[in-house]
Amino acid sequence: MTTSDKFRDECGVVAIYSHPEAETLAYLGLHALQHRGQESAGIVSSDGMSLHIHKSMGLVADIFTEKKLSRIRGTLAIGHTRYSTTGDSAILNAQPIMVQSNKGMIALAHNGNLTNAGEIRARMEAQGSIFQTSSDTEVIVHLIAQSREHTLPEAVADALRRVEGAFSLVMISPDRIFAMRDPRGFRPLAMGRIPAQGDRKEDTVIFASETCAFDLVGANYEREVKPGELVIVGPEGTHSRFYAPALLQSSCIFEHVYFSRPDSRVFGRPVQESREQLGRQLAIESPVEADLVVPVPDSGVTAAMGFAAESGIPLRFGLIRNHYVGRTFIEPQQSVRDFGVKLKLNPVRSLLEGKRVVLIDDSIVRGTTSRKIVRMVRSAGATEVHMRISCPPTISPCYYGVDTPRKKELIAANNSVEEIRQYIGADSLSYLSIEGLKKACRDGDKTTYCTACYTGRYPTNLVDVEEIQPAVVEKA
Ligand code: SF4
Repeated sequence: MTTSDKFRDECGVVAIYSHPEAETLAYLGLHALQHRGQESAGIVSSDGMSLHIHKSMGLVADIFTEKKLSRIRGTLAIGHTRYSTTGDSAILNAQPIMVQSNKGMIALAHNGNLTNAGEIRARMEAQGSIFQTSSDTEVIVHLIAQSREHTLPEAVADALRRVEGAFSLVMISPDRIFAMRDPRGFRPLAMGRIPAQGDRKEDTVIFASETCAFDLVGANYEREVKPGELVIVGPEGTHSRFYAPALLQSSCIFEHVYFSRPDSRVFGRPVQESREQLGRQLAIESPVEADLVVPVPDSGVTAAMGFAAESGIPLRFGLIRNHYVGRTFIEPQQSVRDFGVKLKLNPVRSLLEGKRVVLIDDSIVRGTTSRKIVRMVRSAGATEVHMRISCPPTISPCYYGVDTPRKKELIAANNSVEEIRQYIGADSLSYLSIEGLKKACRDGDKTTYCTACYTGRYPTNLVDVEEIQPAVVEKA
């Protein structure tokens, strides 16, 4: 479970079919998806005969040197960048997971979280299966290997019908790329193309969690992989099939609120448009008399632009973020109040002094960081601090591949909005309504969304019942 004051991104996946430097394109794609997981990364490539792997803990740019990439040169590749949502945070659980199975050599990379992995794993272990990792993704690998179907595509479809929960997956065999999404379409997965040019006779087909990965390698966005769809790209071309009937689509709305990059298109919709609309809607629902709109960088910036445009209150960058903060930092022995937040953010006193400020952020998880930021803005001379949040209160944990605190740690699960306002020390506090959130993200237009972390209503049955009961009110 997360210890930060934000929900943590899950994972990013990328796949490349037919390019002389597929491993380098996968590397560039992972670099663009780095915000989705900073713990480990890996690439598996194929030279048409066998698979080659390199994976390690750390950031994409540190893991893959030119020399390391040249050792895994191939024309097909898949890649994964990870923040662990299940399984220990260790190299053993880094992905892709590569195995030699009775269907040949395969490797798999997964974004999401299976809700019935524990149950399947216990059954398989009782029957003698030996698991090498504690990651839920390995369950899929075992299901593929044990499937009675004779061909790899049929075995994959058979395995996918047995798992529940969230999965956007890419898989590689020596001569094919597979891309698939769960029947509810929780996590995004887009397909793009680099047209053939020069000596290359064949287009390059690319799949990625977000389209920002396409931009870096010069690919055009083509379409979404649909919920319940399995796309196979191989020597015979691109084939698509639905391995299971689509269920009511439950794409993660938090991708639009926070996770995805604003320059990406996810679930077929530009994130920038959703985020700006969130801010506009917030200004309509919760107006306030103020002199400045100030985003909490970087996550609140786009919503703040929308709030400022709708309200007519000028937008000013009154908080500056230091982008070069490492994981650990030496703190002075004489403790400095709010040191952690001060390392990352600094207020611009000349802008804030004597002003009534609307602070815009995209979420309050535990409330501890918001409290420090409000204090920081006040100490820089703001006369009033009004907090506006571009989504509804987060009251329930996620079971679909997002690292969230337990329910008892979510401030909004245990306190009223007024109690949270008092805790963070703001003059006023408002959240966006659930209707406003859905409207801003165009729910029901092309996509219907999962909003379970705001409503407690989960699209699948398999969730931790104790966790979804009303949280025990714990107040200091
Ligand atoms: S519970 Fe929240 S974070 Fe998880 S998939 Fe649903 S909307 Fe996304």
